[in-house]
Amino acid sequence: MPTAANSARTILTSLHEVMAARTHAQAKLNQVVETIGEALDSEVCSIYLLRGGMLELYATRGLNQAAVHVTRLGVGEGLTGTIAQNIETLNLDEAAKHPEFQFRPETGEDKFHSFAGVPIVRRERAVGVLAVQHVDPRRYEDVEIEALQTTAMVLAELIHNAELVDAEELDRLPEAQSGQLVIDGMELVKGLASGNAVFHQPRIQIEQTVAEDIEAERQRVYLAFDRMREQIDHMTGQADFGVGGEHETVLATYKMFAYDEGWSRRINEAIDSGLTAEAAIERVQQHTRMRMREISDPLLQDRMHDLEDLSNRLIRIVSGQLGTAAQTGLRGDSILLAKNLGPAELLEYDKRRLKGVVLEEGSATAHVVIVARAMGIPVVGRVRNVRGLVREGDHMLLDGDGASVTVRPAQGQISAFEARFARNKEKQAGYAKLRDVEPITRDGQRIEVMMNAGLRDDVGMVSVTGADGIGLYRTEFQFLVSAALPARERQMRLYREVLDAAAGKKVIFRTVDIGGDKSLPYLVNETGREDENPAMGWRALRLALEREGLLKAQARALLEGAAGRELNVMFPMVSEPWEFDAAKEVFDKQLKYLRQRKHQLPTSIRYGVMLEVPSLAETLDLLMERVSFISIGTNDLTQFLFAADRANPMLASRYDWLSISIMRFLSRVTKGVEGHKVDLGVCGEMGGRRLEALALIGLGIRRLSITPAAVAPIKELVCNVDTADITAAMDGWLANPPVSLRKTLQEWAQARGIETD
Ligand code: PEP
Ligand code: MG
Repeated sequence: MPTAANSARTILTSLHEVMAARTHAQAKLNQVVETIGEALDSEVCSIYLLRGGMLELYATRGLNQAAVHVTRLGVGEGLTGTIAQNIETLNLDEAAKHPEFQFRPETGEDKFHSFAGVPIVRRERAVGVLAVQHVDPRRYEDVEIEALQTTAMVLAELIHNAELVDAEELDRLPEAQSGQLVIDGMELVKGLASGNAVFHQPRIQIEQTVAEDIEAERQRVYLAFDRMREQIDHMTGQADFGVGGEHETVLATYKMFAYDEGWSRRINEAIDSGLTAEAAIERVQQHTRMRMREISDPLLQDRMHDLEDLSNRLIRIVSGQLGTAAQTGLRGDSILLAKNLGPAELLEYDKRRLKGVVLEEGSATAHVVIVARAMGIPVVGRVRNVRGLVREGDHMLLDGDGASVTVRPAQGQISAFEARFARNKEKQAGYAKLRDVEPITRDGQRIEVMMNAGLRDDVGMVSVTGADGIGLYRTEFQFLVSAALPARERQMRLYREVLDAAAGKKVIFRTVDIGGDKSLPYLVNETGREDENPAMGWRALRLALEREGLLKAQARALLEGAAGRELNVMFPMVSEPWEFDAAKEVFDKQLKYLRQRKHQLPTSIRYGVMLEVPSLAETLDLLMERVSFISIGTNDLTQFLFAADRANPMLASRYDWLSISIMRFLSRVTKGVEGHKVDLGVCGEMGGRRLEALALIGLGIRRLSITPAAVAPIKELVCNVDTADITAAMDGWLANPPVSLRKTLQEWAQARGIETD
């Protein structure tokens, strides 16, 4: 009984010679079918290749030679076409009994009963089929099928090198493989985008499948396993691992797979059969993929993705190709696909070419999504298995408004999309007209509509949108895009430039909010332990106060950067008033230092806090004499109020911003601030949504700081609202809550002709 490794090795050894020979491609294929036929003791062995969208018989042993280059089958046609269409193996003792069987008289195949065929895959698409046939009606053994599959991998390389199937052929996909697909997800950033799919972690194209030196390949894979396990151990210890939750299961499964002896043994067996380390990993992965296809359990399917991830990671390590698509660079308009991303990873991409992002995880207030929103890049999240369904380079239409992605769209869909694109542009042009319109309500209340920013380039949007200034400048973004802690001088220059660009409009600088889902590799947790709950851990002001020099340097940079102008400083994650005092003291000391040295100082300094930790709301009275302004950070506030991780995709749509608990909480805060000379505003993402903004105005909020793209729609809303009207309505609903505040508010707005979509 032959083992898979032995059968495959016999074939691969011969194939190696065939491939190295200086004969032309056709002669090589003729030899290949002989070799395989002999090794598997098969009367027939045939190779079909994709040509002009059809599968053409290219070489055969056992069938009529006259049929070579004559017999052609469409993808999906007959057994061969079915294998190519489904990219699956068929193993039949009686071929004629299969529903897709088609008899081709010119081949003379009527005397053969059994049939086994495997797809020849390149760039995840079937470029051909390798088939064997027998007179006896018998199923092929597993080891024989495995040998065929291994051989098909090597054939894919031979076919590629001999340019028997060119790139154009791959692009001109047969209908079944290129069929359009619409996948639903969750709206994270609105907008439309069209581009080609790019994997954040690119799939490695295996160029050499046959090993020159089996021992060397074993060694390579051994070292790669070591390195991968090291990485996984490190990742599992990292606070920001698996941004987006499900930590426990993901971690456990990752670890389990990474250390699975069965997996490494199978890879080693594949190497023994004569494959390179890369090809062996891929071979085992293909095998697992095929087995898993038969299982429809979604939980197991998810675990399959984890294994795919690990397998890809192992191939990248073994081949030394570790970079992300950002490092390789985007070539044209691109739609980025990833399981999840960190904000810093997103910022590495070329903004001109990155048109959209599709995530398998993600949530509306995860920082990567906030960054994308600020960059004006639409994002659809929670798109299950998108990386399994889309191939690198596939054309995609991303609909951030409808929360779906269309893969390989048909011409009709492209046209419809383009029409919507044009309508959106018109809408944008309409919004541009609002640039100079002051956001004043029908009853004459001036609402401040400011914008959030974090990158130097964002600041230009102040004049584009006509925002009242920057209500939240996230200074940590400069830290996120730097490889090391930005020097004080660099920070100072940025702050000065931001104030220059804002041209006299107010800018509120928030001191660094590092930690949570914004971790910095160069700023390691000094407690010696990893945060289990990074969002509630050693982050933001907590970290800044304790990290010697960090806040001091930033204070100096801000004071110097705003020399001769008004400076607005806001502290994040203040949980108790003493934390505000401690932070302000750092600024006071720096101010004293600069004053003593007769440096030019800001003309005035206003200090404020973010209200994002619920405990602070209980000490509002104590804050009133300390601060000039308060900005409610609803992103964090809601995660703490609901005890629901803002980055966890499983909770992404569980709680509504328009919930009575949030509304009542905010109402208490506005009442607590009323009558004091303290400005109150909201700078969380919810303020950028019209329905939510309407509710906030009804609660008494008069300053919103929102994503730039929302400035015009919110201005338009403000101009259509009567504050007395909405305040009375909100008071009523808070006292007697309707079943769904969202629905009730929507109907209320609709009845008054206020657009809220
Ligand atoms: C917030 O928490 O609401 C906020 C605006 O800050 P960030 O999203 O940066 O945490
Ligand atoms: Mg926050």
